[in-house]
Amino acid sequence: MKENFDFIVIGGGSGGIAAARRAAEHGAQVLLIESDSLGGTCVNAGCVPKKVMWNTSQVYETINLATSYGFSIDGMQFDWSRIKSSRDQFIRRLNGIYACNLETSGVSVIQGVASLAGTGNVRVNGKLHHAEHILIATGGQPSIPRIPGAELGISSDGFFELAHQPENVLIAGSGYIATELAGLMHGLGSRVTMVLRKDSLLRAFDHEIQECVMSQMEESGIRIHRNVALNTLFEKQGSLGYTSENQETDTGFDCAIWAIGRHPNTSHLNLQSAGVETDNRGYIETDEFQNTSASRIYAVGDVTPRAQLTPVAIAAGRRLADRIFNNDPDSKLDYSNIPTVIFSHPPVGTVGLSEMEASSRFGKDSIKVYRSTFVDMRFGVCTHKPRTMIKLVVHGDDQRIAGCHVVGHSADEMIQGFAVAVKMGATKADLDNTVAIHPTAAEELVTLR
Ligand code: FAD
Ligand code: NDP
Repeated sequence: MKENFDFIVIGGGSGGIAAARRAAEHGAQVLLIESDSLGGTCVNAGCVPKKVMWNTSQVYETINLATSYGFSIDGMQFDWSRIKSSRDQFIRRLNGIYACNLETSGVSVIQGVASLAGTGNVRVNGKLHHAEHILIATGGQPSIPRIPGAELGISSDGFFELAHQPENVLIAGSGYIATELAGLMHGLGSRVTMVLRKDSLLRAFDHEIQECVMSQMEESGIRIHRNVALNTLFEKQGSLGYTSENQETDTGFDCAIWAIGRHPNTSHLNLQSAGVETDNRGYIETDEFQNTSASRIYAVGDVTPRAQLTPVAIAAGRRLADRIFNNDPDSKLDYSNIPTVIFSHPPVGTVGLSEMEASSRFGKDSIKVYRSTFVDMRFGVCTHKPRTMIKLVVHGDDQRIAGCHVVGHSADEMIQGFAVAVKMGATKADLDNTVAIHPTAAEELVTLR
């Protein structure tokens, strides 16, 4: 293996692989260093295994609707270990595809833990490699609270290792992961209790998203305890329990999951040797072009304090590679209006500003909210009739769309197209001028009154 490259990428996850391959396509000599499995969090312990489990839960939900559609389904059984095994196999296949793609692109790959060793140098497996440009794309890892007994719980990483389905799960946290795991575990038949340190799930999102998701989760049987500050997690007679500051205590769990956020993988990178600065939480700060405080050292993805989403890491990595290696000095990611889906039960699709954000940005009097709630036709013939909520926040005289929010069946597949419209600056009139597709849930977004 040679020692000098044009570009060294530390981290073979979403952002790192995207940047490395794009740079190589532009003719750069690229070295990528990955300490674990290629594909990073998304492929190995994030989006991919999560979506497989969400799909599993969706299949079960559909089976539960089957009798309403005239089917008899006797003797149905679910085997957690079988889906885990298929899921693991699927991930191994993806790891292989990533390795193959890197090879095809001409990117050299080293397995090992990399660290900076002064300007332009990276150390891995005791050897120094040099490049003019270095990208840090080392992602993050789950945070575990510092309370007695915390080690009795698992993180999302541990969740994907579970060999058996837990019967009675405690989930601490209130963001994406807590909401998604609670929904899919409940959907698959586990008893789920959530403890939130504040009064709502998904507090970063529009208040009606929060209310809709929480009310439907609670109606479905998920127990949500609000304003609980956990003191300890303990084990007694083979089951787990917790105590809290407000004297609330509960026990009988066979699994406890921490889903309280993630923190960046920066502590082992020897950043100070090259003058790369972090914020007080350890994230590498960059300017809009992904430049760190050190010349010719860049950072993308979860290691930076921006939206922690796979397509964001990929887009930032590719644009960076275009800028450095394709003579495209203005190439950078526009971080506004990033669409996102929470694969909860019900799913959420959202892009742009919440009503509160729009109100404080444009003034309460210059925004208008359109909303509709309805029963998706999927549930028309069923006894259980969950409601879909669609909300449009517009601003100004031309009613430009500031935010578009959907909670309900198909929200996950619905939002991408509307995100294009929002990104292009669509107005309410543009949606009204679009002929509806009938009968769909999405048509509600172009027929709002
Ligand atoms: P990563 O993908 O984490 O890659 C970083 C890589 O760097 C890792 O492979 C790591 O091993 C390696 N590394 C770290 N330190 C070193 C070192 N010193 N030397 C060499 N290698 C090193 N996002 C979505 O968009 N949609 C989803 O549905 C979604 N679901 C998620 C579900 C879960 C449970 C989790 C945890 C995350 C989910 N995400 C989702 C977020 C998404 O996975 C991340 O935003 C994305 O993986 C970030 O990519 P990255 O390249 O920044 O980091
Ligand atoms: P999030 O940032 O989504 O949510 C974590 C939440 O947990 C915090 O917002 C906070 O909410 C709460 N919390 C923080 N500390 C504590 C504590 N000590 N005790 C109890 N609660 C606490 O993090 P996640 O771990 O859920 O996910 C990490 C990131 O991964 C997400 O931000 C997202 O970007 C990405 N992801 C994306 C997915 C997708 O695209 N579908 C799916 C999964 C993850 P509060 O302040 O309200 O208490």
